[in-house]
Amino acid sequence: MKRRGILIVVSGFSGAGKGTLMKALMQKYDNYALSISMTTRAPRPGETDGKEYFFVTREAFEQKIAEDGLVEYASYCDHYYGTPRAYVESQLEAGKDVILEIEIQGALKIKEKFPDSLLLFVMPPSAEELKDRLVGRGTESMEVIEQRMNRAVEEVQGIEQYDYIVVNDVLSECVEELHGIIRAAHNTADRNQLFIEEIRKELEELSKGEK
Ligand code: ADP
Ligand code: 5GP
Repeated sequence: MKRRGILIVVSGFSGAGKGTLMKALMQKYDNYALSISMTTRAPRPGETDGKEYFFVTREAFEQKIAEDGLVEYASYCDHYYGTPRAYVESQLEAGKDVILEIEIQGALKIKEKFPDSLLLFVMPPSAEELKDRLVGRGTESMEVIEQRMNRAVEEVQGIEQYDYIVVNDVLSECVEELHGIIRAAHNTADRNQLFIEEIRKELEELSKGEK
């Protein structure tokens, strides 16, 4: 039976380690396709267009919205971020589990549009460790770090809407936990309705002696 991929949302406070985790997950397992978002924020040192993000102007982003080319988009700390539609649809169809590393407003829109999606939230081991990681990354000014910590205070209100939380303490353990949750999600009854129907029909036919 051909298996369609699961749409997986990974959210978490800025600095929790989502990017690091996704990289490690993709390196270890090959059934995942990581969606590359479009954003109006400027690239950080070391980021390249088309790799971490498609970096675009506000005009180009608004044009993409107008064309209905995004499955979801949101504004985060004064910038637009959005998920291009074409890649997500083609990879799911090809049987890949597609990962969207997006913030909470986008995550909730995805859940609304794709009720089968799996929502995961990456937590740091503690608030202090979160701030240390953000500062340690060294890519944002103190002003932006404060803005992102404030955003975390808002985001913490919505975590119960996610299906699972994972704590990113030891990276390799967190990768295995994520992978295990996704594997288990493939086996939920509601994601296997077609297969269940098929077996049900066959059983009925067999029991009536039709086969
Ligand atoms: P996010 O994508 O969630 O904003 P990053 O992946 O950029 O976070 O990680 C933020 C910082 O924390 C980076 O400097 C990264 O190297 C570090 N980091 C990520 N995961 C861990 C971990 N498990 N233990 C220690 N440091 C980590
Ligand atoms: P950063 O600027 O640190 O790369 O990302 C800021 C926030 O935007 C993170 O929480 C990240 O998960 C989120 N984000 C990245 N891409 C998208 C997207 O396509 N849509 C939404 N809604 N959020 C995104």
